[in-house]
Amino acid sequence: MVERPGQAAHSPLNQDVQSARGQPGLAEAGAVLTIDLEAVRDNYRLLKARLGKARCAGVVKADAYGLGAAEVATALAADGCDTFFVAHVGEGLALRDVLGSGPDIYVLNGTPPGAEGACVAAGLITVVNSLEQLAAWRAAANAIGRKLPAALQVDSGMSRLGMAPEEVEQLATDASLLEGVEVKLVMSHLACADEPAHPANAAQKKAFDLLRALLPAAPASLANSSGIFLGEDYHYDLVRPGAALYGINPTPGQPNPMRAVAHLAAKVIQTRTLTGGAGVGYGHTFRTEGPLRAATISLGYADGWHRRAAAGAYFDGVRLPFIGRVSMDSIIIDISALPEGALAAGDLVEIIGPHQTLDVVAGHAGTIGYEVLTDLGHRFHRIYKHV
Ligand SMILES: *Cc1c(COP(=O)(O)O)cnc(C)c1O
Repeated sequence: MVERPGQAAHSPLNQDVQSARGQPGLAEAGAVLTIDLEAVRDNYRLLKARLGKARCAGVVKADAYGLGAAEVATALAADGCDTFFVAHVGEGLALRDVLGSGPDIYVLNGTPPGAEGACVAAGLITVVNSLEQLAAWRAAANAIGRKLPAALQVDSGMSRLGMAPEEVEQLATDASLLEGVEVKLVMSHLACADEPAHPANAAQKKAFDLLRALLPAAPASLANSSGIFLGEDYHYDLVRPGAALYGINPTPGQPNPMRAVAHLAAKVIQTRTLTGGAGVGYGHTFRTEGPLRAATISLGYADGWHRRAAAGAYFDGVRLPFIGRVSMDSIIIDISALPEGALAAGDLVEIIGPHQTLDVVAGHAGTIGYEVLTDLGHRFHRIYKHV
């Protein structure tokens, strides 16, 4: 990176990258993803501060929404988090290796047929979503001759995962169905928690209360990130935030109370000056009207940047709009708003950061922050800002 006076020193992102200079892989990468574990920890604390007696788990499925389950879970565990949720058994096995035998690790999708042995060996807690999954878990318990822990998920109205009311009634009338199963948690999931005024929230809470009254007494859990903001009635004994830990706004339409965690910056590959009438990118979907200075940056749809996400890049706080189509490995930006020579090959422009937040990027892509994060590619150089 060529040093020039005034170069982006005021951007916190650039400070992180500056201090990481010399890290193996940084010079070779096209883009840099900075993951602020201190912000994750602050977000965890902020959520916990909203709780009364309820405990706060950490949802680290899908590699902690693409940000690195090992790093995120280690940071959360250091802050006292002792309960984690993943989606798949494979994710649970990997997390167990990272965290050791202490923490509770729940597997939200439950245990697929044939994976019971691995699940038991790693001490994972399966989330039982159907009588079928329950039968398999009971059989696994019988086979090894001891009780096995499980969460019972009931469907309180989302129609995605969990036992239907009829199935819960069967459990209530036939105690043998739960033989060999230690019920650690009774849980359900809200479909509309990010819309506080949606009547489904209260309806689901009511259904949850009716269903859990039919089951053995156990700690209860209903709220995801947005559910925490519905108020204490929704907290029960354990809350399960994911998105909010990673800086996604749990209260859409209102200011984001969480700290940003993911910062993405892409390197300039080359700059050029175009004359009027030049076609830019595939399909020449953009044509210059007059002279224009352009830069090509090292980020594309192969990095999980949606082709339709016509956003901008930022440098020194100046917006540099994307022009033309997003390619697999590169994007062309209009840098005419910057003084000539301000940007050179190797310089980093902000893609996700203080000027263009994750939720704003998601809006450009016609999706949600969750999808932007989990789509982020695997070519980035990653910098973990440790606590
Ligand atoms: C993903 C998930 C969560 C976390 O949801 P966020 O909206 O990311 O907080 C909680 N519970 C269940 C069952 C989930 O699938």
